[in-house]
This record gives sequence, structure tokens and C-alpha cells, in this order.
Amino acid sequence: MPIFEISLLARVTWNLHSLNNEGTIGNVTEPRTVVLANGVKTDGISGEMLKHIHAFYVWLLTEDKSYFCEACQKFHPQKADRNREVKRSDSPEKAMDKAVASCVLCDLHGFLVQKPTISRPSTIEFGWALGLPAKTHRGIHIHARHSMEGRPAEEAESREEDIDEKVAEEKETEVTAQMIYHRPTRSGVYAIVSVFQPWRIGLNEINYRYVINEDERKFRYQLGLNAYKASFMRTDGAMVSTRLPHTENIEGIIVISERNFPSPVISPMDEFFDKILEEIVKRNNGLQIRRFSNLSQLNLLLDDLMKEELFKLNMP
Ligand SMILES: [Zn+2]
Repeated sequence: MPIFEISLLARVTWNLHSLNNEGTIGNVTEPRTVVLANGVKTDGISGEMLKHIHAFYVWLLTEDKSYFCEACQKFHPQKADRNREVKRSDSPEKAMDKAVASCVLCDLHGFLVQKPTISRPSTIEFGWALGLPAKTHRGIHIHARHSMEGRPAEEAESREEDIDEKVAEEKETEVTAQMIYHRPTRSGVYAIVSVFQPWRIGLNEINYRYVINEDERKFRYQLGLNAYKASFMRTDGAMVSTRLPHTENIEGIIVISERNFPSPVISPMDEFFDKILEEIVKRNNGLQIRRFSNLSQLNLLLDDLMKEELFKLNMP
């Protein structure tokens, strides 16, 4: 059966990371905080961050950059809005044809063109990664960058080191140009929800015609799945130069819809999300679930999915 949609629902354990932050006020960086339906505050990593990581891997994993439009070749965020051929088109249909056909990244991740005004929603969606409240922990660490003023030349390289607060205060008075700063570090189990819509790959959603052939659609589909693999093998968000996450594990479920029915999403925030999905799948033809309990198993499942055919709309 061809693949219509795929939901990826997972729990990922990241230790000592700082993948997403609110911003910096003074010398203090604030971690992202979100509020759940029950009023509980927890740690979050935005869908924008996760989607950006996936989009970057779509770009990186495509060896031949001529598969991208001019902007996407340089991973420029304006995407199709900088595509001259799109902007020269005399109708929205033709502009959409050109934008979708000429760029793998614009097709998979969507875009907005100002003139003619057309927009394409992404075929790949991410929700916030949410820390399970009982399994998420935060710490604020103080660090110091030492000033090299007045020190021998061989020491005159910038370096950073952890110091405790008392030592930091003493050193601050000793070396006036020294900078003290506070950085958050978090550890936790995070619930991740993502949906991939292969049926929409290569589809012009103004006239509902596919603008590329089946081989090209499959190439883009496989690229989307490969970028998922890369995103979980190496999750490169904020502050990874000094807080590269200690990824401990990933486990969860892939739901596959093999007919024109949306693949369901139940958040892994719910302890029984897998049981609920099992029940749903039993009662709905064309849905199936596949479990994984580590990264290697997830990769094998994604490899298997790459061999499948894509669902195609049957237009008269
Ligand atoms: Zn593009």
C-alpha cells in the first residue's frame, strides 16, 4: 500500500543541553518555558527549532545543490520568494508550478511568496518538544571568560571554564575585564510530535496537479526521511558548541496511514499514548503502527519506509 502520511511520536532523553532559549537579559540566558493545559510549567524546544534542524539536513544531505532554488542553495530563509522565475510568472498556478518543481526544500518545507501572493504549507510539521514535568530538570551555571589583559602573550587566548560562584566573585575583583555569565542547562525526557505528508510532495495545491514525476517525488520523500534520521542522530540546536546534548535514548511509535485519512497524533506526554494508538489502529483500516525503542530501530523503520511507494491523488 502507498504511504499517505506518517506520524512520528517519540520520547527523547537529552541530558545537559540548552537547545532552545528565550533570549539573554544582561548576562543571564533564560531557557524556554511553556505552560501545559493543566497549568503546569515545563521546559520546551520550539517546533521552529526542530523544523529548522530538519530543513538544514534536507539541505546538507542533498549533494547536488542544483536541486534547490537560488535562495535555498545558500539555505536562505526567503526560499521561493527570491526565485526570479516564480516572481516572473503571470498567474499563481504557474508560480506555484515553478516554485514546487524547481526546489526540493521549497516543496518539502513550504514557503511564502509576496508577489504573486502564493503560499505553500510545509509537508513536514513539528510541534514543540515538551519536557515531561516529572522528568525534566534545570540548572543555571555560572561561567567566566577571563581577560588576558596584562598576562603573558602565551596565555593570551580566550578560554572559558566552569567556576563556582565564590571563586567567580573573587576573580571578578582581581581581573576587572573578566566577564561572568549565567547559562541554563537542562536534562529531561521530551515528547516529540511530527507529521510528514508524502501525498503532498510535488503537488501544486492551487490546481491540485503534481508537477514532478514519481521518481522525483520518491527522491524527495526519501530525503525527508533521511533528514529525520540525521535530526535525531545529531540534534544541533542552540549552544551546541558547549552544550552538545548527551542523547541517551529515543523511543516511540511511527503511525502510517496508507489511505487518504490523516495519520493520528497522540502526544507522548500521555503515559498511555501507545495503548491509545493501538486501539485507534485496530478500528481503522489503512492505519498501522511500528514501535521503536532506540535510535537504531528508528533508523531501520525509516529505511524500510523509504522503499514504499507514495500515495497519489486520483484526479480526473
Ligand atoms: Zn527553494
